[in-house]
Amino acid sequence: MIRDVEVLVIGGGPAGLCAAKAAADSGAHVLLLERDDTPGGQLVKQTHKFFGSERQYAGTRGFQIGEMLVEEINAHENIELMTDATVLGMYEDGIVTVLKDEKHLKLRPVKTIIATGAAEKFLTFPNNDLPGIYGAGAVQTLMNVGGVKPADKVVMVGAGNIGLIVSYQMLQAGVEVECVVEALPNIGGFLVHASKLRRAGVPILTRWTVKEAYGNGKLEGVILCQLDDKWQQIPGTEKDVPCDTLCLAVGLTPLAELAWQAGARCEYIRELSGHVPICDENLMTTIEGLYCAGDVSGIEEASSAMVEGRLAGYAVAVALGYDVENAQKEVDAAKAELVELRSGPMGGKIRAGIAKVEQKRGEA
Ligand SMILES: Cc1cc2nc3c(=O)[nH]c(=O)nc-3n(C[C@H](O)[C@H](O)[C@H](O)COP(=O)(O)OP(=O)(O)OC[C@H]3O[C@@H](n4cnc5c(N)ncnc54)[C@H](O)[C@@H]3O)c2cc1C
Repeated sequence: MIRDVEVLVIGGGPAGLCAAKAAADSGAHVLLLERDDTPGGQLVKQTHKFFGSERQYAGTRGFQIGEMLVEEINAHENIELMTDATVLGMYEDGIVTVLKDEKHLKLRPVKTIIATGAAEKFLTFPNNDLPGIYGAGAVQTLMNVGGVKPADKVVMVGAGNIGLIVSYQMLQAGVEVECVVEALPNIGGFLVHASKLRRAGVPILTRWTVKEAYGNGKLEGVILCQLDDKWQQIPGTEKDVPCDTLCLAVGLTPLAELAWQAGARCEYIRELSGHVPICDENLMTTIEGLYCAGDVSGIEEASSAMVEGRLAGYAVAVALGYDVENAQKEVDAAKAELVELRSGPMGGKIRAGIAKVEQKRGEA
């Protein structure tokens, strides 16, 4: 049996939650699917306070933002939230298949917003499969959701915001952070986070990398080495750092497979961190009625994911003819908010990526 759905939102992270609420506030009926047992996406593990404006929940901790959004979703009569529900396939005839309670459901949505987020990248080096080598997201989940101290002695790879924030959170959890290793010549994350680590005595080694890991059945240490300006390892600079955990915060890549499978045009755009769907200014892909919001359309932050969610949700409402005047105003407001969020030097990379999306769209 095929179930008809007016608006389908795939993924209950900040983008999906905001998209569902925006479409439902305008009058549409929304089915929100989340593969985990708890919605919130990456927000559930973020214990630090957010920056930005009041509308972007500045001053509130990430997991509290998640809880507030989920409360609003649960209270909304136009939204049905289904957890433990994984979307497996999107087909060119518009049918979406979902795995829920070991059964396959078939849906036929009028409009769909994909908000599946991103996956963590990994690094290639000898023995990178030893137990004790984790992605930063897993370590954050162990600490901040499971209440588990993830390590005694850790080496962090990556000095972007995630690497810096997770390192600081590990210090707070009583973990010894030996150092943060960064292959680039400069620190990619906010200096406010880097300064907190440095004040706590954690060295941040730029132009260093992991040469190999070692251990008997589990991680016992890593060999680090310096890189030259051509990214080649410099022989003789090796440094042995005993540790029980190596944490990789080397970037995220958009989870755009569903859009791809549905037949939406996707392109590799380095500045957006991988293959992304080519979307228009309302975040609609090259497939009529199929939208993408959040990290799936290019890696940014939770604040921009929420605004993109609102943009896509209200754009869908306009397309369906719900509360059009107000929904259009909200679309315009979200676009202006995104411009503001992406202004300044930290937004340069994402602006370049979006310019490439626009160029590709023009070529179509
Ligand atoms: C470790 C880590 C730390 C971070 N720290 C910060 C930070 O400090 N500050 C900040 O602003 N940003 C931070 N970010 C980035 C921020 O969390 C993301 O930009 C933001 O969460 C993106 O929101 P999203 O809704 O697009 O994706 P996500 O939050 O990843 O949510 C996607 C959701 O979709 C669900 N999903 C995926 N596939 C399917 C499917 N097939 N079917 C059903 N559901 C599916 C997932 O389970 C998930 O709940 C961090 C990211 C990571 C990974």
